[in-house]
Amino acid sequence: MRFDELGLAPELLRAISEQGYTDPTPIQAQAIPIVLAGNDLMGGAQTGTGKTAAFTLPLLQRILPFASPSPSPARHPVRVLMLAPTRELAIQVFESVKTYSKYIPIRSLCTYGGVDIKPQIAEIRLGVEVLVATPGRLLDLVEQKCLNFGSVQALVLDEADRMLDMGFVPDVTRIINLLPQQRQSLLFSATFSEEIKKLADKMLKSPVLIE
Ligand code: AMP
Repeated sequence: MRFDELGLAPELLRAISEQGYTDPTPIQAQAIPIVLAGNDLMGGAQTGTGKTAAFTLPLLQRILPFASPSPSPARHPVRVLMLAPTRELAIQVFESVKTYSKYIPIRSLCTYGGVDIKPQIAEIRLGVEVLVATPGRLLDLVEQKCLNFGSVQALVLDEADRMLDMGFVPDVTRIINLLPQQRQSLLFSATFSEEIKKLADKMLKSPVLIE
């Protein structure tokens, strides 16, 4: 299987080939068609499997019809929300979003705690389609009233097992409750405990399971 057989847009294929990748990893080959079709997904995957591109590529394609070169913030509402448990992981996901969205006029931002919130607020006000965040800082930003989730069409919960270990389930639950009911949701976890399954029940609708 090659990347150009997955139905991805030319803008994405160009960014992929610039990375030197020709063949999708197994999780990418499985997940990309499922996510492109708009399904919810529960993925069992560790880091190093290529899971970041497995969700980033198809979600970028899902928002491609809304991409706009307009400078107006109103034309760049938050459409995809990606949650990661730590600053390091959030930055990794963000790098991937940057890499693959290189030829698409969408804006992305990474927000995490432990740094000044003001520059993050200023950037959000300019308009951001893909927001990668750690849960605590995202809720801080919600309290600052600079975020509107009305246009969110997809949520990704990456490394859900680590979110659980770090005590983020209440924060994640609060965030989920702020999002539109009608949305696509993806959950990735290296392990599937009972608690992960409970979280998945709250968050996903008839998910396709891949491992
Ligand atoms: P991840 O599991 O998402 O953290 O990705 C692990 C590493 O694999 C990253 O350094 C990616 O840049 C790289 N990678 C992702 N997709 C591919 C691919 N299709 N072919 C080769 N390397 C890839």
